[in-house]
Amino acid sequence: MNGSQFSHQGLQFEESLLFELDRPDSCGVDFDGHADLGLAEDSLGNLYRRAPIALPGLSEPEVVRHYTRLSQKNYSIDSGLYPLGSCTMKHNPRLNEKLARLEGLGDLHPLQPVATVQGVLALYDDIGRWLQEICGMPAVALSPAAGAHGELCGMMCIRAAIDEKEGEDSSRRRVLVPESAHGTNPSTATICGFTVDPIPADAGGRIDMMAFKDKLGDGSDVAGIMITNPNTCGLFETDIAKIAELIHASGGYVYCDGANLNAIMGRVRPGDLGIDCMHINLHKTFSTPHGGGGPGAGPVVLSAALAPYAPLPWVVKTGDDKFDLIEHEPGGPAKPFGRLKGFHGQTGMFIRALAYMMSHGRDGLRQASGDAVLNANYVLAKLKDVMSPAFPEYCKHEALFDDSFLAGTGVSTMDFAKAMIDEGFHPMTVYFPLVVHGAMLIEPTETESKFALDEFIGAMRVLVERARTGPAEKFHQAPRLAPRRRIDETEAARNLRLRWLPEEPTRDAAD
Ligand SMILES: *Cc1c(COP(=O)(O)O)cnc(C)c1O
Repeated sequence: MNGSQFSHQGLQFEESLLFELDRPDSCGVDFDGHADLGLAEDSLGNLYRRAPIALPGLSEPEVVRHYTRLSQKNYSIDSGLYPLGSCTMKHNPRLNEKLARLEGLGDLHPLQPVATVQGVLALYDDIGRWLQEICGMPAVALSPAAGAHGELCGMMCIRAAIDEKEGEDSSRRRVLVPESAHGTNPSTATICGFTVDPIPADAGGRIDMMAFKDKLGDGSDVAGIMITNPNTCGLFETDIAKIAELIHASGGYVYCDGANLNAIMGRVRPGDLGIDCMHINLHKTFSTPHGGGGPGAGPVVLSAALAPYAPLPWVVKTGDDKFDLIEHEPGGPAKPFGRLKGFHGQTGMFIRALAYMMSHGRDGLRQASGDAVLNANYVLAKLKDVMSPAFPEYCKHEALFDDSFLAGTGVSTMDFAKAMIDEGFHPMTVYFPLVVHGAMLIEPTETESKFALDEFIGAMRVLVERARTGPAEKFHQAPRLAPRRRIDETEAARNLRLRWLPEEPTRDAAD
């Protein structure tokens, strides 16, 4: 079966765009526009539409089927194992969903008067306190909408603190970023007006302390460091407290990328490690939906030094069970750098994450991080004899392999990942982190059973054997069973086509 000729087969549907399905004489509603109502033309004056509206003509069942089929194309954590390293795709307990849909929470409107939303303000206050407690930090900004947005929040706090202390023409503009960092780290630093200075990893996959000290120098031009812990190699940065001490001694701040909190939650408090601000991906660590099912939420915990710069709005407790939402702070002790978002943030995600925290409790959260690390090490232990672990030691929540086990087979990391699709498994994260050649980063998370992990490990071992014995050709052609074969990803990225345009009317040749 050739992917490009794939059409309706085996109850799988090739899905056209609604515009391509258009039958102009068809309509899903049965009144004749404004004519029946007799209102539109008068009340709209000269804004009345003269040309056809250019929406596709379809019946209601056709529209319903179109969107239902599209939704079924979305591979998700609810469809199967989703071992994307760094993304923490864990099961979203249905209890969280049930609570987020409670009448009174699900129906909230962000413009409701504060007196009518006391319950949800109490809930913001609660989740804020849970996050502060888990992280050992005195303040939290809830509004950032995702991890990258949280990075922006944290780095803007750092920028505001430096500007206040040293003036806006301070030379403190260099930010140290380990080479294994997620791409959002250097992007964020750059957007905030800093220059990025990369720090290499040592042979063991952690920050090279000699190189770090060298880059820091006397530190007078260093705004801070953006460090991920555990890092994207799945390893705990054991020198973090020392690094924080040196950064602070030189007048800088420590940003921690908290995307990997799932490995240490309930075990280490980032505040105790000297961190000044850290985003928390609620959609990773605290299980709220992400990927196609977002939105995410990226609250940022802050140290006492950065807390005054936290963005508006925030919740204050004004009495027993009474809360207020502070939207403006004219001349108070706080010096918010501004606002990041309309309204307060992703309320539905706060409810889900709080439900996750409260249903797990202190011991349950601690067990979740322990099980996440155990599962990753199980995968590592069961594959290390046939694949090539990037580092010899135990990992935290994700197992990292390089591509040296594929040397001489003619099979690349990309080929191997695509072949996993034919075996019924979503690929792991590939070619990240950049510090490892042909990286394959596997994060099973704590919610996979031993049975599910054994199936995955079995499929991986079969593929390794097949790569060894050849032919490589089969790998180059993979995926062979998916509706689409290899996509030209470079072409797709360079020539984004996000908008359907009607075909140009064909002109008369004589024209
Ligand atoms: C996921 C992730 C981010 C970005 O978070 P988003 O919520 O996707 O914006 C940043 N750093 C690391 C290490 C991540 O895994």
